[in-house]
Amino acid sequence: MERYRVKPGEKVNLDRVDAADTSAWKGDKDSAKERFLELRARLVELQEVLYAQQRHQVLVVFQAMDTGGKDGTIRAVFEGVNPQGVKVASFKAPTPLELAHDYLWRVHPHTPGKGEISVFNRSHYEDVLVVRVHDLAPEERWQRRYEHINQFERMLADEGTTILKFYLHIDRDEQKERLLERLDMPEKRWKFSPGDLDERKLWPKYMEAFEEMLERTSTSYAPWYVIPANRNWMRNLAVMTILVDCLEKLDMKYPAALPEEEITANRKRLMSESE
Ligand code: AMP
Ligand code: MG
Repeated sequence: MERYRVKPGEKVNLDRVDAADTSAWKGDKDSAKERFLELRARLVELQEVLYAQQRHQVLVVFQAMDTGGKDGTIRAVFEGVNPQGVKVASFKAPTPLELAHDYLWRVHPHTPGKGEISVFNRSHYEDVLVVRVHDLAPEERWQRRYEHINQFERMLADEGTTILKFYLHIDRDEQKERLLERLDMPEKRWKFSPGDLDERKLWPKYMEAFEEMLERTSTSYAPWYVIPANRNWMRNLAVMTILVDCLEKLDMKYPAALPEEEITANRKRLMSESE
């Protein structure tokens, strides 16, 4: 899964990343789905320990073009994980109150506390993506943000947060298919907004913005992973594999139980309880 990680300072050319690539998985789609479910069962276990131990915090960031699969990935990966320990925050266009503050103000309250996993569906990175593409702030302002963001994430990491960032990469043809599907399927229509077609026109500008984001903010303490995302099963498996691997590396354990004699004493106390 290292193949997907953007090394600090590495140049990224998204034109050359095949969004349909599935070569990381040697088997077929069904076996990939089986593997995915095994890993999800493991994720459920790891999250239990994370929660019990109250020691680590995990932040998972998702960014992608419209229809890139942020919602679907979050649904698939975290399905069945104890909802008490996972918080999802979706970042939409800022409210007037949010706009009256610095751009990290609305983000910080959603970072994970001890024992928690926070999932960001979009994030502070919109402030160097949509803001850049639509000229919502002058260039000298958003240019400084890469460094702010690195420092912000560095602080979170120094204080104990494990950070993973996923850019789900689909290509322009795939987006067309997915937008058509949104128009054609009644249960998907609600997701379509006419603005999506205007955004689509800006594809090259978005790719430039994503490339610079990946180049300038993939760090040792908060790496970006570029996930080929045309195939949902490959995307889900790749994200899950990276997440589980990262949690395994935390080497978590259930907190130490009471000493054996206290357990015995408490058991006795309970057993001898009178009505
Ligand atoms: P969706 O994820 O489809 O619900 O759309 C959310 C919209 O909010 C997207 O069009 C984002 O570009 C927009 N958005 C998120 N964060 C910002 C931001 N900081 N500034 C402007 N627009 C934003
Ligand atoms: Mg949308």
